[in-house]
Amino acid sequence: MQFIEALKLRSKLLFIFIIITIGLLVVGIVGAINLNNMKKNLDSLYFGSLVPVIELSNILQIYHGKLANTVYKAKNSKISSSEVKLQINIAITNINKEWKNYESHFKRDEEFQYMEYTALEIKSINNYFFKILKAMNDGYDMKDLSIGSFEKKIAHIHQIINKLITYEVTVAKYERKNFLKGYDSVLREVGSILGMIIFGIMIISYYVFKSIQNDQTALEITTKKLKRANKKLENVSYTDSLTGLYNRRYFNVVYNRELKRAKRTHSYVTFMMLDIDYFKQYNDTYGHIEGDFALKSVAKVLKDALKRPSDFVFRLGGEEFGVLLTETAESNSSVIARNICDFVRAREIKHENSKVSEFVTISIGVACCIADEALNEEVLITRADEMLYKAKESGRDRYNITTNVSEATPIVVNKEAIA
Ligand code: GH3
Ligand code: MG
Ligand code: MG
Repeated sequence: MQFIEALKLRSKLLFIFIIITIGLLVVGIVGAINLNNMKKNLDSLYFGSLVPVIELSNILQIYHGKLANTVYKAKNSKISSSEVKLQINIAITNINKEWKNYESHFKRDEEFQYMEYTALEIKSINNYFFKILKAMNDGYDMKDLSIGSFEKKIAHIHQIINKLITYEVTVAKYERKNFLKGYDSVLREVGSILGMIIFGIMIISYYVFKSIQNDQTALEITTKKLKRANKKLENVSYTDSLTGLYNRRYFNVVYNRELKRAKRTHSYVTFMMLDIDYFKQYNDTYGHIEGDFALKSVAKVLKDALKRPSDFVFRLGGEEFGVLLTETAESNSSVIARNICDFVRAREIKHENSKVSEFVTISIGVACCIADEALNEEVLITRADEMLYKAKESGRDRYNITTNVSEATPIVVNKEAIA
């Protein structure tokens, strides 16, 4: 069943359809052949046995009924001689007709001899009646007919035809027995052929459906792998390769999404701009590779300091980082900013040419507000940038915070008021 596995889904379904169709065709053909055979058997039973018996019985009936009656009536002068002649003629014609029909049926070789003998006997008794007719024409009176010899002749032909009837009935019984036997074997034959076809179709169907199931499982595994690969790709495209933090591309996505959410729920939103102090000097002193290590170390400090699911840390570019906090009030944002400054310094990354400390330090600008419809996304960043500038100005290694973010709103209102 290797080739079933190799088929595509559509071909598999087509294959099973063809198999079922062929199965049904075979069932139909076998059924039709057997029905035809049965019809032939019934025909031979009917025309080969039953009809001949009826024909022979009819002949006997005519001898005993019509002919005998006519003769008795003629003897007792109850009917005219012309009527007698007519009745005898009709009866003989009918007997000949029935006998001809009987002879026309299929006969076995061994039956021919007795049949010829019977034909001669019928001819002889019919001649007897023709003789009577001839005598009547010559003036013979039927009263003189010997009933004894007439009855003898009838009894004789009765015996001969009866023997033939008994033979035909025996043959009919034999044929019927054969037919019933044949019928039973046909039933068994058709039953076993049908069983084999159904069994074959079931086995093939099993393999086809198993194969479809395998395909389905393979498809599911591939889909899962694809999903994982996509997720990886997505992570790669949202991650900064040096620090492992989210990159600026993801910042754009998250910043817009979180700000919209905060605006809807009128909740706190905090944005921090972070910048390493005198980093140019650091690179100049220790080299670019060491600079990268320092960047990684600072990134690690930020990651460790901001662990809530609602905290996002980004490397926005160079030695600048961004932090987005939601559901965090001003006081808490201040604490977090101070902690970050402390933690970075406490990391004790040597920076001998820094003018503020012997270790690497960081300055932070913080903008915090309760988001409302009037909040402009750009203003939050600008305010944080301004606060960072202030922190740098006022000595570095510190944070500067403002909550005066939504003041854009009063400005607009004022402008409108002026207008
Ligand atoms: P300030 O305290 O005013 O921020 O001084 P600064 O020297 O940090 O300021 P500036 O922005 O002029 O210098 C940033 C430096 O950061 C410039 C560049 O040498 C360094 N830098 C930017 N990106 C990378 C990086 O990916 N790796 C390394 N090692 N250094 C970088
Ligand atoms: Mg800078
Ligand atoms: Mg700097």
